[in-house]
Amino acid sequence: MDIAVVWFRNDLRTIDHQPLRRAIASGLPVVGVYVFDPEMMRETEYGFKKMEKFRAAFIRESVEDLRSELEELDIPLLVRTGDPAEVFGTLNEQYFIKCFYMHEEIGSEEQTAERRVREVLQAKVSIDHGHNLYDPEDLPFDSYSVPDTFSQFRKRIEKNDVLMRPPLSKPSAAAKSVEVDEGEIPSLSALGFDELDGPLRFRGGMSEGLKRVAHYFFETDQLRVYKETRNGMLKEDDSSKLSPWLAHGCLSPRMVMDEVRRYEDERVKNDSTYWLYFELLWRDYFHLVHRRYGDDLFAASGLRDRTPPWDRDETLESAWMNGKTGYPLVDAAMRELKATGFMSNRARQNVASFLTKNLGLDWRIGAAWFESLLIDYDVSSNYGNWLYQAGVGNDAIQFRAFNVVKQARDYDPKGDYLRTWLPELRRVPGARIFAPYEMNYEGQQAAGVVIGRHYPAPVVDLFASVERNKARFLDVMK
Ligand SMILES: Cc1cc2nc3c(=O)[nH]c(=O)nc-3n(C[C@H](O)[C@H](O)[C@H](O)COP(=O)(O)OP(=O)(O)OC[C@H]3O[C@@H](n4cnc5c(N)ncnc54)[C@H](O)[C@@H]3O)c2cc1C
Repeated sequence: MDIAVVWFRNDLRTIDHQPLRRAIASGLPVVGVYVFDPEMMRETEYGFKKMEKFRAAFIRESVEDLRSELEELDIPLLVRTGDPAEVFGTLNEQYFIKCFYMHEEIGSEEQTAERRVREVLQAKVSIDHGHNLYDPEDLPFDSYSVPDTFSQFRKRIEKNDVLMRPPLSKPSAAAKSVEVDEGEIPSLSALGFDELDGPLRFRGGMSEGLKRVAHYFFETDQLRVYKETRNGMLKEDDSSKLSPWLAHGCLSPRMVMDEVRRYEDERVKNDSTYWLYFELLWRDYFHLVHRRYGDDLFAASGLRDRTPPWDRDETLESAWMNGKTGYPLVDAAMRELKATGFMSNRARQNVASFLTKNLGLDWRIGAAWFESLLIDYDVSSNYGNWLYQAGVGNDAIQFRAFNVVKQARDYDPKGDYLRTWLPELRRVPGARIFAPYEMNYEGQQAAGVVIGRHYPAPVVDLFASVERNKARFLDVMK
């Protein structure tokens, strides 16, 4: 029997899904497919997994949600664990895959998998863009030549009033249905992960993503003040927290923008509503940087032609990863990441700066650790942001370090975030929390924490380390 197949990857939704609409329009019976590829979960050269349980759990839930969404359209979702080329090869022997639909992925690993799948099929293949605000063909420049800085990019977009296509509505049911062995959605342990210790911080799936939009925009009216609260590190509504759903395509950025526009019509249009657009534009920008530079995104030298003298030091790497550097902001953030699979943007910038500017370590281990743990991992956003923080992006050569003590004072003035994630420092009074190593012994005793025993002494000097790494960096890069 001839069938049309939609391969779902980072597009786990039914709204604003062109491939799905095309498949339905083909008139053939439609089968959706999701493959848990062991390649996505393998161990990296650094000794930890490419994907940890948080993201795996989010994807599982998203696939469950997708299955029930597709059921309403009379479309089965076949779920398998294995090599995609083998999965599709087998399916093609049972049925004949006449038409094959998917969204474009720009990562090289995704493209390699795709090429191998296409080799085993004789299908007519159709690929759409669906991950961004703007389609490549609508840009006022060649989509492989994005401008060198975000600000040039933004100006080009805004000046040219580039078309943002409205999101596509949910399609109507397929005309013909087909019986397939859909397969169980594998449990976390079947996928080789430990079970979660508690509920996942964000629930996967398009329906949950839509709920989050409704909550943040209309129910709590938080969008109104987003620009003022977005740098907060602790509270769930400080920022939109839409990244997990955007990263896995449970929501498309156009679906989000459609709701921003509705909010602007019905409630208020202000700097905050613009700022959410501005952040989504950053996301588009990093996707375009990835398109332009390809695998350079993963190189030690990044987008530069010289490589800064990155160090490798297992003791320091482990202190950073496990939140034991002696600097409370870095430690709180790294422990939050390890316990929940999430970290705010402000904290991400700080820990990335600390790894590369204070510790002088290879940024790639930091990016790989984020890749492993982040629920919202998105290849272009993760590696793109890391390159910028490491000073090897395509902007001007510079060595900009965050002062992680000052940043904590500015963005967590009462130390609530620090105390939440660092129980051993809970009794440290007032502003002492920002630099507990400055307390004398009596102070430490009174606070119930001896530095070097209950909480680590700083692994490097805050200022001397930056000076040393700056000199080394500029020596090579200038
Ligand atoms: C070192 C580092 C690594 C990062 N890795 C990722 C990643 O793997 N995946 C990811 O989605 N974001 C990544 N970011 C960007 C940013 O930290 C997160 O998107 C943001 O914290 C998610 O929270 P939010 O949805 O509440 O953001 P909001 O402030 O509410 O922003 C709204 C949306 O805009 C987009 N966005 C915001 N800031 C950025 C940015 N700097 N770059 C790209 N998109 C942005 C996200 O889709 C986000 O959901 C990284 C940032 C840094 C500094």
